[in-house]
Amino acid sequence: MPTAPVIEVAELRKSYAGRPAVDGVSFAVEEGEIFGILGPNGAGKTTTVECVAGLRVPDSGRVRVTGLDPVADRERVVRVLGAQLQESRLQPKLTVREALELYSALYPHPADWRPLAERLGLRERLDTRFAGLSGGQQQRLSIALALVGDPRIVVLDELTTGLDPRARRETWQLVEEVRARGVTVLLVTHVMEEARRLCDRIAVIDRGRVAALDTPAGLIRRAAGATVIGFTPSAPLDDRALRDLPGLAGIARRDGRITLSGTDDTLDAVLSLLARRHLTARRLRVTDATLDDAFLELTEDPA
Ligand code: ATP
Repeated sequence: MPTAPVIEVAELRKSYAGRPAVDGVSFAVEEGEIFGILGPNGAGKTTTVECVAGLRVPDSGRVRVTGLDPVADRERVVRVLGAQLQESRLQPKLTVREALELYSALYPHPADWRPLAERLGLRERLDTRFAGLSGGQQQRLSIALALVGDPRIVVLDELTTGLDPRARRETWQLVEEVRARGVTVLLVTHVMEEARRLCDRIAVIDRGRVAALDTPAGLIRRAAGATVIGFTPSAPLDDRALRDLPGLAGIARRDGRITLSGTDDTLDAVLSLLARRHLTARRLRVTDATLDDAFLELTEDPA
């Protein structure tokens, strides 16, 4: 029998001063999944996850975390959900050790914070006050505080923003380990490599709505085709000649160079087309489409 989702969001709506920030978002997260939320600035990602964490009250719609309403059952939800939210600010005079001890005391079965602090490179900083930490160190502490309660669900908003490349990779490894223990992760991110590497599924949110929901590979296939073909034709080639290529998902032009997104069939067909017209493809490059391509195609340019 299928189990109930750990997080359910249905037709969630939230406006600020009459302007919709979240405008009918629905998704469900299964136990043990890493579920990503991806989208442009101001798309409504943080508002969505803050509603899941019980920090904002939705205008309408349904949010359930392990079957509980995060606003009405806040105390019970806090015991199963750890949240690292954007710009989480702590009391500036609190030291790292005090913050970890304080947060541990809030949970019924906390993890041992010492190995966690060690993993996040905070061992040397235990007696430093929050105000004396660098931006990256503050970020690491906020991740530690999200995990210290040994939660069943963890919400991570811009997990690795401000972290150096090594800390970023170590943090990804930590999230993978957390998931391997069966923890469900809701991850808001702008980092495509992070989304591709960590997430089982991703909801792309644009202007307060879910523009697509799929696995990273599925998003790439659906939005941008699987293959990107770049070349400069030896003589001009107009869009009419290209539009009917099989599997074609998109055409872009820049400085005489043409970039097609599509499939291997598109590649075969464009090479035949060029041969029939006695044209050559200069600087031909064939690459796999990336999540960046999919993101750009699925979300609107605000300009
Ligand atoms: P980013 O990637 O920039 O963090 P986001 O997708 O997380 O963006 P939100 O922070 O949810 O987006 O904001 C969605 C919209 O709601 C934005 O237009 C934002 O300006 C607005 N907004 C968010 N919080 C408030 C608030 N407290 N008061 C008024 N407007 C708000």
